[in-house]
Amino acid sequence: MADPKKLLPEVKAFLSDRPIKMFIGGAWVEPADGGTFQTLDPGDGSAVATVAEGKATDIDGAVAAARKAFSESGWATLPVKDRAVLIHRLADLVEKNRAALAQLESLDVGKPLAQADGFDVPNVAQTLRWYADLAVNTRLREPIPVSGFEARQVRFPYGVAAFVLPWNFPLLLVGWNLSPALAAGNTTVIKPAEDTPLTTLYFCKLVEQAGIPAGVVNVVPGYGETAGKALAEHPGINRMGFTGSPEVGRLIASACGKNLVPVKLELGGKGAAVVFDDVDIEQVAGKLVAAVTLNTGQVCCTATRWLLHEKVYDRFVSAAREMMGKVRIGHGLEPGTEMGPAVSEKQRQRILGYIDKGTAQGAEAILPGGPAQVTGHPKGFYVKPAMLGGGPDNICAREEIFGPVAYLMKFRDEDEAIGLVNRSSYGLANSVWSADLGRANRLAGSMVAGSSWINGHNLFPPGVPYAGCNLSGCGGGVLGPDTLFDYLRPQSIVRALA
Ligand code: NAD
Repeated sequence: MADPKKLLPEVKAFLSDRPIKMFIGGAWVEPADGGTFQTLDPGDGSAVATVAEGKATDIDGAVAAARKAFSESGWATLPVKDRAVLIHRLADLVEKNRAALAQLESLDVGKPLAQADGFDVPNVAQTLRWYADLAVNTRLREPIPVSGFEARQVRFPYGVAAFVLPWNFPLLLVGWNLSPALAAGNTTVIKPAEDTPLTTLYFCKLVEQAGIPAGVVNVVPGYGETAGKALAEHPGINRMGFTGSPEVGRLIASACGKNLVPVKLELGGKGAAVVFDDVDIEQVAGKLVAAVTLNTGQVCCTATRWLLHEKVYDRFVSAAREMMGKVRIGHGLEPGTEMGPAVSEKQRQRILGYIDKGTAQGAEAILPGGPAQVTGHPKGFYVKPAMLGGGPDNICAREEIFGPVAYLMKFRDEDEAIGLVNRSSYGLANSVWSADLGRANRLAGSMVAGSSWINGHNLFPPGVPYAGCNLSGCGGGVLGPDTLFDYLRPQSIVRALA
């Protein structure tokens, strides 16, 4: 594992529990069958912690605890202002424990500490606060003017909201998913990804300290085929939120369909960045290199297809190749690391496999990528960033790789650019880069996706909705004001006037 001497005392203490237990009904509990699994440090392949492995029986326990908390703890009926106070207290604790959470996230995912500390963790506190304030300022009882009746619409929390989450932004996605559900008064059960359960479990310590009633937040770490499946199929849940791959999304949606549980899917992406010839080429090249190497390219919405105007293609390629070749690869906890390892050996092999398949199908290896060696960490899951070029039918132009691999294509005019952008089964996020704002807005509006960004990529201002379409998701989204209503059950109350 990363040098234990460098870990904060609270992180060391947390990791020393054998196993780190599940959090159910406000208690730290062992799984029914006593099973455990290990989570690894992707930076050197060694075990970081032993974690309780929850299965169907434990999911039953967590759902029962969440149901009990919904009907008995007072959380669902608490005045919204009082609930918001507790959520703000939780956000305070996230901020207070920022260093520990960032260290754990870096260790578990492999991402650079500065990224976890500068973005992931503060974003969780920000999202908690934003939804707490939104709930306070949202009218939950609206009169409906209609002649002959006295009518109103009232909104209530649904009950138990269940979440199955991925490994790329484990804590940030807890923030994005849990915040609206909690602010609306639901109780929750989370199944974090098996590769990265640590910060979600540490977060439960903060839930306890914040004074949020027992059973409002429950976390069952474990594998998808067992714990995740049991949660999605559970008849005791009232809402389901899933973030992950389209393949698993289909399974989750089918399970929810059987029980008629409303489900929200946030899935993969194959984001394009369209670069015109009127921008500062070197600057944009730097931003796209940063985007595709962010979190080792394991970012659903990042820019993986770079569509470059033919007049600037060569200049862009030479600038980007030079910058990409210099990205500092290293252990996430080591200062100066710009790109950490892939999250697992499986993910590393997936990335390398795509580069092989893409080049076998004729892609030009502008920067070939491949396995990377990092001094002092021979067993880490490192890859070099890659730049491939070619036509739109190549596998690397079509499928989500989820690694630091950019696929470059040339375009002549706006029509060709938009045709290439929309030639994707995904619809999560794209960007357009141009000094001509008329053109940029035209293109942004023609992109079939949940988000279109102008002169930037991965832009997440607070309160702006984020939701995919097509293969990238359905059933709502995250981050926007509407998401609060996804967790509120509408009910009309009508009185007949004699
Ligand atoms: P994944 O689909 O393999 O796993 C996601 C979660 O599902 C994990 O917790 C896993 O244990 C669980 N799971 C696996 N099999 C299951 C089953 N049969 N039943 C129930 N649960 C099961 O995805 P991943 O590899 O963890 O994450 C990468 C994917 O997530 C990428 O496609 C990425 O684009 C997507 N993602 C999307 C967003 C978004 O906001 N749209 C954000 C982050 C990641």
